[in-house]
Amino acid sequence: MAVNGTANILSSAYLAVEFVDSFLPANPLQEPLKHAWNHMLQNYSKFQIATWGSLIVHELIYFLFCLPGFIFQFLPFMQKYKIQPDKPETWEKQWKCFKMLLFNHFCIQLPLICGTYYFTEFFSIPYDWDSMPRWPFILAQCFGCAVIEDTWHYFLHRALHHRRVYKYIHKVHHDFTSPFGMQAEYAHPAETIILGAGFFIGIMVFCNHMILLWAWVTFRLLETIDVHSGYDIPLNPLHLIPFYAGARFHDFHHMNFVGNYGSTFTCSFAVHVRYLTRVPVAKQVVRTRAHASVLRFHKGHDTENEREKQSGKKRNKDRQQCQERQ
Ligand SMILES: [Zn+2]
Ligand SMILES: [Zn+2]
Repeated sequence: MAVNGTANILSSAYLAVEFVDSFLPANPLQEPLKHAWNHMLQNYSKFQIATWGSLIVHELIYFLFCLPGFIFQFLPFMQKYKIQPDKPETWEKQWKCFKMLLFNHFCIQLPLICGTYYFTEFFSIPYDWDSMPRWPFILAQCFGCAVIEDTWHYFLHRALHHRRVYKYIHKVHHDFTSPFGMQAEYAHPAETIILGAGFFIGIMVFCNHMILLWAWVTFRLLETIDVHSGYDIPLNPLHLIPFYAGARFHDFHHMNFVGNYGSTFTCSFAVHVRYLTRVPVAKQVVRTRAHASVLRFHKGHDTENEREKQSGKKRNKDRQQCQERQ
C-alpha cells in the first residue's frame, strides 16, 4: 500500500518535471554531452564506467572543491570571513585529515562503489545507458536525493551523538572544533558506512542513469565541503537553494557538539516528521535539557583530553628537567 503510494507520488513528480521541461529552452550542451557519453560507452565496459569512472569523479571533485578553502588560509584578506578566526588550520591537522581521507576513500568507499554496481546488476535495477537525461530531471532527482539524505543524516547523526555510542564512532569527526573543507569526510569507518547509507537510499529510489549518480555525488560533495569550509563567503550561490544550511550552521555544531544535526537543510524534513507526530512541548523541553547534559558530557570529554594532554606535557617537562640535572 505504502509502496503504491510512493510510486504514485514519484510518477506524479516525473509528470510535473516533464511538464515544466516542455517550457524550458533546449540545453546547448545536451548534444556534446551525449556525444562524450557515447564515446565513453564505446571505449570502456559498464563495470569500468560505474566503478573506476565513479572513483575518478569522486576524487577529482573532492580535492577540487577543497582547494579554494585550502588556499584561503594563506590569504589575509579572506580571514574576515573565517567563522572561528581564533582557531586557524594547522599543517599537523590537515596532514592527519588527509591520511584518514585516503584510507576512507580507497578502503571503505571504493568497495561500496563496486558493491553498488553489483547490487544494481544482481537485482536488475534498470539503468538507462543509451540516452542522455535532460537537466531539469537531473536537478529534480538531485533535490529528491538531498531531502532523503538529509532526513537520514538528521536521525542517524543524532543517534551517533547518544552518550552511549558517541565516543566509539562520531567523536572522530569531532576531533576538530573548527572545521575545514578537507574534514568533510574525515570520520570513523563505521560512520562512513552508517551516514553514507543515506547517500545510497536516494540512488535506489531515483537513479536510472550513471549521470544522475555523478551529478548527485558532485552536489553532495560540494554541499558537505562548503558546510565544513569554516568560511562564510558572501554571495555563495549555494544559498539560493531553499533552506540551505551553509557553513555557519554546521560550524555551530562542531563548536558546540550539539544541535543542527541536518546535513543540507536548516529546516530538515526530519524536524517536520517530529512536529507532525505532535511531540508535546514538555517533552521538547526535556530534550533541550538532555541536549544541555549531552553538551556538558562532550565538553567534559574534551576537558578530560585537554587535562590528559597537559599532564602528559608536564610529565615530559619533568623528565627533561631530571635528565638535564643528571
Ligand atoms: Zn561535520
Ligand atoms: Zn556531530
